[in-house]
Amino acid sequence: MRDTVKVISRFYILFSLAGVAMASGNTLEVAGLRTEYHVNPVGIDVTVPRFSWELAGSGRNVSQTAYRIRAAERTDALPAEDPVFWDTGRIESDQSIHIEYGGPVLKSGQRIYWQVRVWDNKDRESSWSEPAFFEMGLLNQSDWQAYWIESGLQEDTTVSQPSPMFRREFTLGDSVVRARIYVTCHGLYELSLNGKRVGDQLFTPGWTSYNKRLQVQTYDVTGLLKSGSNVIGAVLGDGWYRGRLGWEKNRNTYGSRLALLTQMVIQTADGSETLLGTDGTWKASSGPILLSDIYDGEIYDARLEQPGWDQPGFDDSAWKPVRVTDETIDHLAASCGVPVRRIQILKPVARLITPAGDLVFDMGQNMVGRVRLSVQGPAGTRVILRHAEMLDHEGNLYTENLRSARQTVEYILKGEGPEIYEPHFTFQGFRYVAVKGYPGTPATDDITGVVIHSDMKRSGIFFCSDTLINQLYHNIVWGQKGNFLDVPTDCPQRDERMGWTGDAHVFARTACFNMDAAAFYTKWLKDLAADQHSDGAIPHVIPDVIGGAASSAWADAGVIIPWTVYLCYGDRRILESQYASMKAWVDYMKTQAGSRYLWQSGFHFGDWLAFNTTRSDYPGATTDKGLISTAWFAHSTDLLRKTALIIGENEDAEAYGKLFEKIRKAFQKEYVTPNGRVLSNTQTAYALALGFNLLPDSLAPAAAAYLAEDVRSFRHITTGFVGTPLICHVLSGTGYLDLAYMLLNRREYPSWLYPVTMGATTIWERWDGQKPDGSFQDAGMNSFNHYAYGAIGDWLVRVVAGIEIDEKNPGYKHILIRPRPGGGLNHAEAGLETMYGTLRSSWTVQDNFRLTLEIPCNTTASVWLPSDNPANIRENGKAIKKDRDIRWSQAGKDVILTVGSGIYEFRCPWNGSEK
Ligand code: BGC
Repeated sequence: MRDTVKVISRFYILFSLAGVAMASGNTLEVAGLRTEYHVNPVGIDVTVPRFSWELAGSGRNVSQTAYRIRAAERTDALPAEDPVFWDTGRIESDQSIHIEYGGPVLKSGQRIYWQVRVWDNKDRESSWSEPAFFEMGLLNQSDWQAYWIESGLQEDTTVSQPSPMFRREFTLGDSVVRARIYVTCHGLYELSLNGKRVGDQLFTPGWTSYNKRLQVQTYDVTGLLKSGSNVIGAVLGDGWYRGRLGWEKNRNTYGSRLALLTQMVIQTADGSETLLGTDGTWKASSGPILLSDIYDGEIYDARLEQPGWDQPGFDDSAWKPVRVTDETIDHLAASCGVPVRRIQILKPVARLITPAGDLVFDMGQNMVGRVRLSVQGPAGTRVILRHAEMLDHEGNLYTENLRSARQTVEYILKGEGPEIYEPHFTFQGFRYVAVKGYPGTPATDDITGVVIHSDMKRSGIFFCSDTLINQLYHNIVWGQKGNFLDVPTDCPQRDERMGWTGDAHVFARTACFNMDAAAFYTKWLKDLAADQHSDGAIPHVIPDVIGGAASSAWADAGVIIPWTVYLCYGDRRILESQYASMKAWVDYMKTQAGSRYLWQSGFHFGDWLAFNTTRSDYPGATTDKGLISTAWFAHSTDLLRKTALIIGENEDAEAYGKLFEKIRKAFQKEYVTPNGRVLSNTQTAYALALGFNLLPDSLAPAAAAYLAEDVRSFRHITTGFVGTPLICHVLSGTGYLDLAYMLLNRREYPSWLYPVTMGATTIWERWDGQKPDGSFQDAGMNSFNHYAYGAIGDWLVRVVAGIEIDEKNPGYKHILIRPRPGGGLNHAEAGLETMYGTLRSSWTVQDNFRLTLEIPCNTTASVWLPSDNPANIRENGKAIKKDRDIRWSQAGKDVILTVGSGIYEFRCPWNGSEK
């Protein structure tokens, strides 16, 4: 019992911070109100926003039976029953997530406060929740009375240019009661009002398919304005818009000129409204940022700062008038993703001098973000920071794998006392920082690692009795931290950092467990649809900056990710909004495959980075690309069929159901022998055939046995990007749990744990990114922060810890708890902040099997316990047969319980075998 208590308390520490706690006494409360996944979002453009809340009710088996929402334009109007803006009245429903707004048509800038009360199955009524709100952004082009402005400074846009600064001074009469600013730009912006930074978001306006969708952020700036003189200031950086992008020396991908568009709407106490947009009255100047580029880093000359430029009273006579341009505003869209922020601070764990003589700080963690530097010295002193992920086998800074990305930051001191500097429009992927030119010797306190990523709430943890696997999980989470910077990137360090579709979808399910990624993907999927070709082909990377599209298993992100968001968050709307894109992709494949239903043409990445050798008798585990493409064609078609059913496209559902069967038959005829051997005879081939249900039932066991034979003979994975996410699921799902654990536990190359034994703190792109002798794989493609292989996190959670989604009741409305102990582990646990609240599952095997659960209110769970006799199962010391709240049934060697919300502790005898 003591172990369990310890485990539970760790969860409580984590989750009491995050979610709505279980209630005590006889109470029912509602909290955790969110609109479109966000807490009190400002500046949205979803005209029918959806509301979600969590119940906290004491006792077990709490479910909602009814709710009532009411909404008003002012908080003080809420308590009054009348007049309200919108009131649902009491609605009999167990739905507490994604309830659609149904009030009057929403207008630009309108803020709506809402609150909810609920009733439960124990005849309890909650009090009204605390009010939450949402606020609309500018919904119409005609709302904009501002103009795009450019700096008008002389520029050579074939190379990186200094960041222009913009300013505009203005006067306000009376005191300000409400002020909003709507902002976007070509490039990246940092905005200030009276010298104070507006908001805390970084890399705004975010990365989208700029020519089709450009995001606008809305900020409440009421507190930053004053009566009298005010100044709005902005600095722009090249960013994704015109900085380097793609591994070639490409720049100016979306345009060659930076530009700013803002509109401020200010209401003052005297009732007047001032509208202040960018126009010809603004002025521009160059400043201290001489270069700032996502790949290359930044050069900042502090001597060029212009103190007071962003404050009233500054003499801007030397500044130039801006140029007003007529660039379009017809593709503006409200920001809907997850803001990028500074998330965490790391301090160096060591300072060392390399054999080559470099002074290097070790952050102890491969991280993404940048260094905040503290320094004091004479004006003109140039401090140079070079960033690298690894030290080579001699202990020197290893930068070859960055390819052409400089990842170098240079700071030139102004020499006026202590100076603190952090770069602006760039980020680095690094664990090691080499510092050159520092006046004196920097202390570890002078170097601070600022970790930056999309500010998704951490929602899931996994922990088990094996420290190497726990480190693997840590690495998976850091892979996500490092590669979720507004778009899901492949890597954060070399001259790439792009939204590779294949990488994105293989990791999506793990990502949605670790962090609340729903809004993040919702945004990215809009760009996927926007960049999709008219024939349905989906580009290799989104936003598409390299051309090239329609690789199987990459482009399928267009189907897999909406489906994943639907499963993990119960989000039906994502299926509706992405449906046309999903369908267009499947139809594209159908055209390519033709009347044989086999897709064997076109360019495909195949089972990228699969195991290969130089042995003449075994060149490697190469899986036929036609097989991979046809398998994915089938799988996406099957998911599209399910999607069509869910959103009521019944004819489509039938048609795609038939199509799936045809592909399945064609696959069997072309790639499967009558004995169940699957062509290429690789782990990936079997994983696809079995994982996507492409074999006749009669042959599946034989195919699984061939797969098992292959795994046994190699004793390791041979899979690449395509097979790796599936292999353990397929093994554990076909009776070979022991082999899945064998793969997991392996410590030598190739395996998940090999990098861990080499000291990895993130997931590597290649199984052998660094060899046991310290030498490296080909520097041309060797990222040490590439989340794709981290997809094993999904198996750890769903199979080892045993938390599974019921497809028919997605979003964890009904949960399947089925842990599969094995592999020498005697304990595993996972916890997740679901849309409904905290879900935890923790098992221990010793002389008996013990399962501790927390099931959130308004959900139910089916729980598998390894027992052939329900009489042997105790819950909290009591026979389950005596518990009226627990239903059970026998299914072979398992007892399946059905439980409602609450905390449970089950025990049953354990025979020690993996099943
Ligand atoms: C990227 C990937 C990607 C692959 C496709 C690489 O350069 O880093 O992870 O999926 O190219 O071939």
